[in-house]
This record gives sequence, structure tokens and C-alpha cells, in this order.
Amino acid sequence: MERLSVFDIFKIGVGPSSSHTLGPWKAGLAFSENLKGKAFDGIEVHLYGSLSKTGIGHATDIAVQLGLEGFNPETISTENISTIIQRIKNEKSLSINQSNIRFDPKSQIVFHQHALPQHPNTMILKAFQKGQSVLEETYFSLGGGFILKEGEEENRDKVVDLPFPIDKGLDLVKYTNATEQSIAEIVWQNELCFRSAEDIHNGIQLIFDTMLECVFKGVTTDGILPGGLEVKRRAKKMNDDLMEGKSFSNAKEWLNQIKNSTIDFNKINKWISCFALAVNEENAAMGRIVTSPTNGAAGVVPAVLFYYYCFCENNGIEDIKRFLFTSGEVGCLFKKGATISAAVGGCQAEIGVSSAMAAAGLTEVLGGSPRQVLMAGEIAMEHHLGLTCDPVGGLVQIPCIERNTMGAMKAITASNLALSGDPADAKVNFDVVVKTMWDTAQEMNGKYKETSEGGLAFNLPVIMPNC
Ligand code: SF4
Repeated sequence: MERLSVFDIFKIGVGPSSSHTLGPWKAGLAFSENLKGKAFDGIEVHLYGSLSKTGIGHATDIAVQLGLEGFNPETISTENISTIIQRIKNEKSLSINQSNIRFDPKSQIVFHQHALPQHPNTMILKAFQKGQSVLEETYFSLGGGFILKEGEEENRDKVVDLPFPIDKGLDLVKYTNATEQSIAEIVWQNELCFRSAEDIHNGIQLIFDTMLECVFKGVTTDGILPGGLEVKRRAKKMNDDLMEGKSFSNAKEWLNQIKNSTIDFNKINKWISCFALAVNEENAAMGRIVTSPTNGAAGVVPAVLFYYYCFCENNGIEDIKRFLFTSGEVGCLFKKGATISAAVGGCQAEIGVSSAMAAAGLTEVLGGSPRQVLMAGEIAMEHHLGLTCDPVGGLVQIPCIERNTMGAMKAITASNLALSGDPADAKVNFDVVVKTMWDTAQEMNGKYKETSEGGLAFNLPVIMPNC
């Protein structure tokens, strides 16, 4: 079984999709790296299956061009993306490894309607010199920004000997019982095999800061989202109403204002939705995002994390670390035992997993036992089983943005149920729900797996043709 770090689940990138934007971006980067030292004068990009069907709406074509030009999704200035893409289009030229080659995205990025048998998200990259093939590579985008090159094994570089190898929920129960440690403590010891304590601390801080900047940008930005559906941003108005005129000049001040305000149930409820909307509006606008576990579902974990940070007693970054270790590990368990790709398993694999991650993280920091943490994750997923992926117009906007608010609320409810319950009484356990999600994924009709051929994506344009 693959060895994953929580930093594989929380990746910093650019919206709107981890499988359709971040994955193809990384494939473009890998391909241009493998072209180093080779002479070539032509490039072709072939997209298949879900990558093709929702590729335009998910900015797959943009992402692969940015990857081929060597831009890093973690550090690129998101403000510059449209200028770069416009330059490639106008000049009909790509700059790869310091060489300019003729490239017309219109004809050299080919959207094939059919899927290849290997994987629903497949792309083939080809390089030529005077019409002769120089390099051809096939990549699969596995969800959550993970990619796999055909012929290679997943995570082949990660031969890591962990003190606590975790493949199932049961492993966590076993280790926590034997050591009398929490899930976060077990995960911490595993993480030390991937990077130093200092790097882990800095990495968690960076994830938290990136999530905060993303929410803050979302609550301070107005207007219409790109893509043609004319979806209006809502987080800013919600924030303005909730802030009731309180001033702030940066993200930290804003967060402290919320932390110090008088609160009631309804307001907290609205803040949770506001946090989630803000992230996913930024995601839809190709903003800077932390996958958790994916981009489309990136609002759930921050919404619950900021709920905890603002409205529950906590010790700042130390508790945030415990929250993210636990939720990241739960994301890893779903990736290993099922899927975190909507093209493979529908939205249960994205919003369902993010909700389970958030529920588990929250339960850990609110003092739940390891079995209660897993119980919370199980409850959150149980009530997302079968959730389909049907993004209208191939954009990550309807139903995606609102769906993150629902995932966050279910996570908090699941955590409350687990904290007030006895895991010994639970009939369904974590590993059963992971297996059930996987079984459901395999039996789900392909229309509901990020193809925009079923559900809302089919009905809305028929009933309301202007949508
Ligand atoms: S419906 Fe769910 S899985 Fe599909 S794109 Fe939207 S958030 Fe992602």
C-alpha cells in the first residue's frame, strides 16, 4: 500500500480543479522536464474522457500550457495567468526550456470525447522534431492533484519505513490503543519520516496561512465568476452583513474581529457558510487554493477549521496542527481504500471525503477519543454516500460552491454525534464506510462522474437554456 504524508493531501495550487487543473499542470511540468536536452519543434496535447468533457470549464487546457512553460502552481502569481495564456494564444508560441516553439492551443490541444480504458482522466503529451516523434508520455490524473505516468508505479519514490504504517482505520485503533497516544500523535511520528520537525511546522503554518489568505480574498472580492454561467459571488455580502461595520485591514485582523465578536448559533452557522463560499468562489476564479483533498471540495476543511479557530477554545497553531494531521490522515485512508477522484467516484469522493476529514479533525481537537474521531469521519461519509458529480456547464460552480457549505455543516454535526456517542454502540465502522464508498463508486453510472452529462448539468440547460 502506498505511503502518503498529510502534505500529499494538502497541496497548494490553483483552482478550479485538482484532477483537471492541478494534475494536468503537473503532467505538463513533468513532460517539459523530460524534454530537457532533446531537440523538438512541435507539441501536441491529447485529453480523454472526463478531462476532455469538462476540460474547458475546469481550465485543463490553461493548466497544461502553464505546466509546459514551467510555471509552478504553488508559486505562480494567479493575477498573471490570463496574461500568459493570452500571450501564448496571440503569439501562437510556447516557451519550453528556453526554446520557443510554434503552438496553437486551438489545434494542438485535442479534446477527444471518448475515454481510454486505462483511466477516466487520461492525457497524452507528444513532442516532435520535423514531424518525427521525439517523446510521447501518457499521464493519468488520479484526483487531488496526484498524477501517474503510464508504466510507473504510484509513489514509487516513496519507499519510507514508517513506525506506524496505516492502511485502514483499524490500524489507527490498534496503534492508539497500544501506545495510548492520539491519532495526531501517531501521525506526527510518521510525518517525521518524510521531513524534519521544522519543515513540518513551517508546512502546517503555510497551509493555514494559505487557507486564511484564500478565505480573506473570497470575503473581500465582489462580482461575477468567470465561465459564462454569470454566477454572482456571495461571500463578500455575507461577510459585510456579519461584520456589521467592523473594520479590518488584513486577514489576521479580520479573523480576530470574528474571534472577538458576540455570537449566536445563527451567526456561527452563517460564518461557516461564508468561509466555505469564500474558498470555493476563489477556486472558481482560479485563485490560490489548498487541496483538501481536492480543489472542488477545498472549502469544507477550512470552513470547519476556522469555525474551530474562531468559536471554540484552542491553542492556535499547535491545535491547528493536530486538526490537520488528523484530517489529512483520514484523507489518505480514503485515497488508499477508495478514491478521491470525482471522475472515478462522483462527488462522494470529494465533498464526502472532505466532510469526513473535517469531522475527524474537529473531533480530535475537541477531545474525542481515537475511536470517536474515526466514528465522526464514518458518520460524515455515511451521509454523502452516492453523491453524484454533475457540475453545470463543466464549471466548478453549480452545485459545487454551495455543496461545500453543506459538507462543512455535516462535518460539525457528525463530530457532535461522535463526541456524544459511544463508538462501541456504532453499527457501522470507518473501514466499512470506506469500502462502501468504493463499491458505490464502481457501480455509479458514468454520467455522474465529472462528465457534465447527467443530473443538474443535464437538466438545467434544458429547462433554463440561458444557464
Ligand atoms: S459536483 Fe462535487 S465532485 Fe463534482 S466538480 Fe463539483 S464539487 Fe467537485
